[in-house]
Amino acid sequence: MPHVAIEDVKAARETIRDIAAHTPLQRAAGLSEAFDAEIYLKLDLEQPTGSFKIRGAANAVACLDEEQKQKGVVTASTGNFGRAMAHAARKLGVPATVCMSRLVPQNKVVAVRGEGATVEICGESQDEAGLRVAELVERDGMTALSPYDDYHVIAGQGTIGLELLDECPDMDVVLVPLSGGGLIAGVALALKDAKPDIRVIGVSTRRCPAMYESLKAGRPVDVVENESVADSLGGGIGLDNRWSFGMTRDLVGPDNVVLLDEDEIRRGMKLLYDVENITCEGAAAVGVAALAAGKIPDVHGKTVVCLVTGKNVDADMFQSIVA
Ligand SMILES: *Cc1c(COP(=O)(O)O)cnc(C)c1O
Repeated sequence: MPHVAIEDVKAARETIRDIAAHTPLQRAAGLSEAFDAEIYLKLDLEQPTGSFKIRGAANAVACLDEEQKQKGVVTASTGNFGRAMAHAARKLGVPATVCMSRLVPQNKVVAVRGEGATVEICGESQDEAGLRVAELVERDGMTALSPYDDYHVIAGQGTIGLELLDECPDMDVVLVPLSGGGLIAGVALALKDAKPDIRVIGVSTRRCPAMYESLKAGRPVDVVENESVADSLGGGIGLDNRWSFGMTRDLVGPDNVVLLDEDEIRRGMKLLYDVENITCEGAAAVGVAALAAGKIPDVHGKTVVCLVTGKNVDADMFQSIVA
């Protein structure tokens, strides 16, 4: 399977400059002491729309041709990607539609509408919302964007890796929250191109280990999708995966993916809050959670970067976890 070209990650940095932020890298003094390592946090939760997804979304929308831009973009993602795509599309003057099932909570509908997208409520499940996406592609010539399995999305996410190479050239280990694999594919590509010895480790929830199981099987497989406190790490990788699976297999591999239980993820969120005063969602805390659970070997004395990917967490849920 082909990889995204590193030149396109470098080009993305320029392309997304006015829409996505260059986020801060912060040394975490408390965590460094706790884990006897140099721990840095890449604070991509400080992006507009509150997650790194804006990088890939902005690049994918910007890379459309003029006709595609006129006809607009569509997705069935109700989470961080739907929001990011809506935001990027509005900035670039491209119409955006997000299809959601009737079961999606009202606050998510409001968040996407607030970013200026058209929301289509259709069906009783996200699969039915997905069918509506296919209809809009067929009928109106809209372009469907995948949150993780898209060439330009992966190139956009890779810009985090380029920023890290500038900010922390001595890093030994980078811990990346892993779901569909768009983030880790782009970041691993950028890092390994410059420094092949950097260890890139994916961290997923055991409640939905789609990439982990697919890597073990040697091909994309379906897993049972259970709810998790790391809700942004839910969902499969698509049996027809074109990019993120092959790149994760080649650049990361099954031996560098760690699975966490719910309690471990909650502990990571609480630790980030108690020690570093950071409020983030479950998916964003898995790097710190994996360190706290002792699941990352050989980190003593090493420089470790954790990607803190998003802050879109329900306030009541967060309070109950850190209380
Ligand atoms: C989407 C998402 C991830 C995982 O990214 P993938 O490209 O699907 O692997 C991690 N953290 C947050 C906050 C996300 O929204």
